[in-house]
Amino acid sequence: MEKIASFKINHLILNPGIYVSRKDKVGDQVVTTFDIRITKPNFEPVMNTAEVHTIEHLGATFLRNDEKFRDKVVYFGPMGCRTGFYLILAGDYESKDIVELMISMFEFVRHYQDPVPGANPRECGNYQDMNLAMANYYAEKFLTEVLYNITEDRLVYPEG
Ligand SMILES: [Zn+2]
Repeated sequence: MEKIASFKINHLILNPGIYVSRKDKVGDQVVTTFDIRITKPNFEPVMNTAEVHTIEHLGATFLRNDEKFRDKVVYFGPMGCRTGFYLILAGDYESKDIVELMISMFEFVRHYQDPVPGANPRECGNYQDMNLAMANYYAEKFLTEVLYNITEDRLVYPEG
């Protein structure tokens, strides 16, 4: 089988950031997949599943309520390696187009203290696997270390 595009990125030199992972055509519409990379691959500890799960629930809730992007959101969910998330938007976008959206989303996650939406047995397949405190922590870390002063090298995949 052919190696898929996301395995061609050199994860040894990839830093936390927001990257365009790929663009696909579905019918006439371009669909953009973003790599929302929270931890440095194979360098920092990965996130645990509980906080990944909490960020998934909160992030998806935020995005699907955002007035500007709600109708563009196809998917938001975790990478299996637990170093980040994929966001899929209908439309042809660059990373800089979603910087403000990601700042708003992670500010929502950073300050969130209420019951996590969908964290109940009817609405989720593993509702007790949640860690809101660590979700708050990773949101704070990503905002201050990456998003608030984001540079070009954290918006475009490294070459090599
Ligand atoms: Zn769930």
